[in-house]
Amino acid sequence: MHFDIISLFPESFTSYFGVSILKRAQEDGLITVSTHNLRDFAHDKHKTVDDTPYGGGAGMLLKVEPLAEAIESVDNRQPTDSEKLKTRIILFSAKGKVFTQSDARRLISYDRLVLVCGRYEGVDERVTEYFIDEEFSIGEYVLTGGELPAMIVVDAVARLISGVLGNRESTEEESHTEEGIVEYPQYTKPEDFRGYRVPEVLLSGHHGNILKWRKEESKKETAKHTRKSLQ
Ligand code: SAM
Repeated sequence: MHFDIISLFPESFTSYFGVSILKRAQEDGLITVSTHNLRDFAHDKHKTVDDTPYGGGAGMLLKVEPLAEAIESVDNRQPTDSEKLKTRIILFSAKGKVFTQSDARRLISYDRLVLVCGRYEGVDERVTEYFIDEEFSIGEYVLTGGELPAMIVVDAVARLISGVLGNRESTEEESHTEEGIVEYPQYTKPEDFRGYRVPEVLLSGHHGNILKWRKEESKKETAKHTRKSLQ
């Protein structure tokens, strides 16, 4: 899968995408990431990408022209081959639909995701209306920009692509695989740390009991986090 990220701060992505699983995924050719500096699409010699909102109000908005042209430069879809290229254009915004694991699963069916990062007071609404396919929030709070949300979406989607995780990591049995359900607690060595012991059942070697315990604990964790309880 290819990720195109449009941002005023493309350098923010270097460190996160340069380590661990996402680094390996790029080296193995399973994902590719291109960042595009929005300022390269400005029209004037001062490289202006923002302006004051019509109607007044605090702050600046990202202008429609540079954003539209940046999106068009990476999205080479023609009306006739929109299905064939399988591109999805996503804008990050605090007012969008909250991104979930089921969105991550749905997005792996695309060949390319174009991720548009807002800044300042946000973007001219015409971008949302005419140039993007969907608008995601990553939670009910306001950040300074869409760069962290873009990293989150790349991470959540990339790890679901076949081959990205090694055998040691699995996406089959984890929180949110089933919507709203979270994982049971997990422990590793030592058995006893300052008197805090690992639950005996996990040391018993009895697979049936371990499975039952894990199901029960998953229910409890799910209820604790006020998510949907298992039936
Ligand atoms: N004025 C906007 C509002 O009230 O909804 C907030 C703009 S925010 C300061 C600047 C940019 O950060 C947004 O355009 C968006 O790209 C990004 N952003 C902020 N919070 C976000 C969130 N919870 N999820 C996704 N993107 C977010």
